[in-house]
Amino acid sequence: MIIGIDLGTTNSLVSYFNGEETVIIPNRLGGVLTPSVVSVEGDNIYTGEVAKERMLLHPDESAAVFKRSMGSDMRYKLGGKEYRSEELSSFILRSLKEDAEEFLHEEVTEAVISVPAYFNDARRKATKRAGELAGLQVERIISEPTAAAIAYGLYEMNDDAKVLVFDLGGGTFDVSILELSGTILEVRAVAGDNYLGGEDFTARLVDMWFDKLKKDLPVKREDMDDKTLRHIHKQAEICKLGFTEERSSSMRCVINEQEYECSFMRDEYERRCEDLLERIRIPVRKSLQDARLKLTEIDKVVMVGGSTRLHMIRSLVAKLFRFMPDTRINPDEAVARGCAIQAAMKERREGIREVILTDVCPFTLSTEVSIEREGGGFESGHVCPIIERNTVIPASRTETLYPLRDDQRSIRVKVLQGESRFAANNLLLGELEIDLPKGKTEENGVDVTYTYDINSILEVIVKVRRTGESVKQILKGTDVDMSDEEIAKRMEELAYLKIPPREQEKNKLLLVRGERLYEENFGDDRMVIEQYIRRFEMALNSQDPVRIDEAREEFREFLEEWE
Ligand code: AMP
Repeated sequence: MIIGIDLGTTNSLVSYFNGEETVIIPNRLGGVLTPSVVSVEGDNIYTGEVAKERMLLHPDESAAVFKRSMGSDMRYKLGGKEYRSEELSSFILRSLKEDAEEFLHEEVTEAVISVPAYFNDARRKATKRAGELAGLQVERIISEPTAAAIAYGLYEMNDDAKVLVFDLGGGTFDVSILELSGTILEVRAVAGDNYLGGEDFTARLVDMWFDKLKKDLPVKREDMDDKTLRHIHKQAEICKLGFTEERSSSMRCVINEQEYECSFMRDEYERRCEDLLERIRIPVRKSLQDARLKLTEIDKVVMVGGSTRLHMIRSLVAKLFRFMPDTRINPDEAVARGCAIQAAMKERREGIREVILTDVCPFTLSTEVSIEREGGGFESGHVCPIIERNTVIPASRTETLYPLRDDQRSIRVKVLQGESRFAANNLLLGELEIDLPKGKTEENGVDVTYTYDINSILEVIVKVRRTGESVKQILKGTDVDMSDEEIAKRMEELAYLKIPPREQEKNKLLLVRGERLYEENFGDDRMVIEQYIRRFEMALNSQDPVRIDEAREEFREFLEEWE
């Protein structure tokens, strides 16, 4: 069985295809969203909800949003030891793998994992390595919008369709345009805003709340501590969710043991978010431009990401495209379901028609050139694009370069990645040099061919036109690739970290929650909380399953009531 995994920035999901439909597999705590958070305590690694809770009390031992630095050299320090993003991700994948094995009653060793469409080669490779570190063979890395489109059954559509995938999550916004032609599903363009998401919509409510109540508050906003500000933010988040069902929603915060509440109308809130909606239009416009399509040529809009539940987002899309977006599938689950379908395609399962996926190159691949100055002479450091951003891959393009002087005996080709006009501002992927025969400048042209394939491998061939002599280099991305032995070695090094048994995790979540409450409260309240924690710990120590079950239920009720 190949499973599908949506390895998200905030939450991750695992799913599979049961022969008829996709199923989201519940995690050890019974939920379907596993927070992409890791926390280390001694030799134990906690992931998901427990890690998220632990992070509040033990930020030094925990990490979140590490997907953002996937494929980079950034290290996270947890409990004094350092981990790379892919290693932390591998812990999430390990626990999802276990959840799937428990649910399916079989060993799972293969997966399809999704990544954002704009992930470059290094970041895709790092994701693949994360899978390998978790003991999963990654059958395919698939773009999130492609997965979402597949989940919406695009592969079943008869006509050639152009689809826009609108993905507004907690902190990022991505737009992708896909085109289905026959059985080929092609990503035509991607655009986005890495600093726009649900959090910004929550922050607006925080501002509104302060505006309305600032005269009554005992402490000024600037003087509030982090904990109070976090509390206000959390209440704003709850208030925001209230607008999904109602035209008004209220927000209640406790400051210095006093309650401050006010309610807002949805219209009022939407007016306050107008500039955010303006910002949403920009990547939409840009993706259409890059795909060379008009708004009216889009046949379908698919919504992904929790924030697309916002009323104003849905009506913005409806207004822009003059039809309703497709929201049949839970926006949190669409990508994971698409991964499961892709996994089933890989297995050539019955009931699934295979489609061929293509992707786009998310950045420009170019080479350095010199340009002629107006008054004569040359100016170096300029760029000649060979494969442009958003070119459908696999792609192969050739440009001819000429030496600058008749007596020039060699040409050096620098391989660059990036969007800047200047070579120095782009990333240098590699360099090739080739000798030139004697001859005039215009006779000594060299053909530079870049071939970029679906696995993000770039092949560069430089060929002297006159002699046919050539040099070739394969560039496997910008990161230091790990060999199989290195992966095996790191797996061994990380093996001491154990995911605690599933049963224990439920208990751990309650204990961590209890500890947090304890720290958040004072005086008598603390004593009450401590008593409950002690009682539960004693039950755990007894190792009597019946007693533990009873104590857990009691402790859970107590915590829920308290919160
Ligand atoms: P994601 O990153 O896709 O999990 O999206 C998380 C974001 O979706 C958070 O900012 C949530 O506040 C937001 N979100 C989830 N449900 C709703 C809802 N009903 N209304 C508005 N925003 C929501």
